Amino acid sequence: LPARYGTGEKSVWVEYIQLAAEYKPAVNLGQGFPDYHAPEHVTKALAEITTGENPLFNQYTRGFGHPRLVQNLAKLYSPLVGKEIDPNNEILVTSGAYEALFSTIMGHVDEGDEVIVIEPFFDCYEFMIKTAGGIPRCIALKPKATSGTMTSADWVLDEAELVSLFNSKTKMLILNTPHNPLGKVFTAQELETIGNLCKKYNVLCVSDEVYEWMVYAPNKHIRIASMPGMWERTITIGSAGKTFSVTGWKTGWAYGPANLMRNLQVVHQNCVYTCCTPIQEAVARSFEFELSRYNSPECYFFSLARELLSKRDYLVKVLRENGFNPTVPDGGYFIVADWTKLEKKIDLQSESDKYKDYRFTKKFAKEAGVLAIPPSAFYSEDHKHLGENFARFCFIKKDENLALAENLMKEWN
Ligand code: PMP
Ligand code: GLN
Repeated sequence: LPARYGTGEKSVWVEYIQLAAEYKPAVNLGQGFPDYHAPEHVTKALAEITTGENPLFNQYTRGFGHPRLVQNLAKLYSPLVGKEIDPNNEILVTSGAYEALFSTIMGHVDEGDEVIVIEPFFDCYEFMIKTAGGIPRCIALKPKATSGTMTSADWVLDEAELVSLFNSKTKMLILNTPHNPLGKVFTAQELETIGNLCKKYNVLCVSDEVYEWMVYAPNKHIRIASMPGMWERTITIGSAGKTFSVTGWKTGWAYGPANLMRNLQVVHQNCVYTCCTPIQEAVARSFEFELSRYNSPECYFFSLARELLSKRDYLVKVLRENGFNPTVPDGGYFIVADWTKLEKKIDLQSESDKYKDYRFTKKFAKEAGVLAIPPSAFYSEDHKHLGENFARFCFIKKDENLALAENLMKEWN
């Protein structure tokens, strides 16, 4: 294995998906995907496209994005960022948000460049930065002491620490709002602080917004690209998998100014070159349909968040009643919960993993039948201890499966 790939350890996803297959936990609240159907118009569109009249929908399409899809993405995002987006030069369709991250990082990070990353982070950021020859500079969100309910807004950055990470080698900062795994929705003030530092040090801001529609009122998702002076230094990333509850479709995108997007195009054309045509056509039609009812409460972008809110509240209650201390998320579909009060009830010595959250989640899956993700996977080596007392639970699951999780946890307790 070339040294740039590090030791080649399994990612938490490879390991925990294998684990789910082996242990067969009764309820899988691990990897983030819905266990129920996507909206009918979305899946029907794909069925119609592949068997319909136009044979070309099953053939290659434009490399940087299927025309109908980039046009709809431009239509959706232009008013949201306050800038007329050029569909052909300012948007790239990718194999999931994952490839958008890959093309952005490979296309912009050079040997020795520093990249500021906020912990906990979606684990592939760190791996991709290192593979590009860059140096991750990590800063952790830390919980403020609160007497009452802890929410994701209580997890904050220390401004002085953030300032101290910027220097002449800083090339990029990766932001993720709404945040995986905490569910934090960054406020205008927090984004302004980050944006001002990016401007001062001429840093590229990469904003991973795959959970952009999953925001719980009164919180509001703010696109940093829409803030003054930020469009020209921001690449924003989205995901059809998350937007339309079809994570298996692995279709995403990046948008930003043409001069920055060019580097992504170069990586993309030499990596996957073009993405799946029928899926792009189906995602395009799905956007068209949602745009036509954008102002109605039925629009999926808004109905999904309403549906998720009751699931969030239910799982928060279940976790609390069973000895966990959950952070209530303002966005996204994960709950990070502190499990340390349960430590005396569980034999962590029988698992061999280095980090306690890996041992806890494995043992808990075996004993209780509920699988969660260990958050230390979302920290750099030096900071992994910050994630060890927690487990991440996904709540975009059928109500009956959340109820089953409740019963299993009660029985275990
Ligand atoms: N970024 C974050 C924060 C994620 O949670 C995920 C997982 N959906 C991705 C990127 C990758 O998205 P996709 O499945 O579209 O590749
Ligand atoms: N984003 C999802 C999660 O965090 C899926 C992870 C993945 O696809 N690697 O669970």
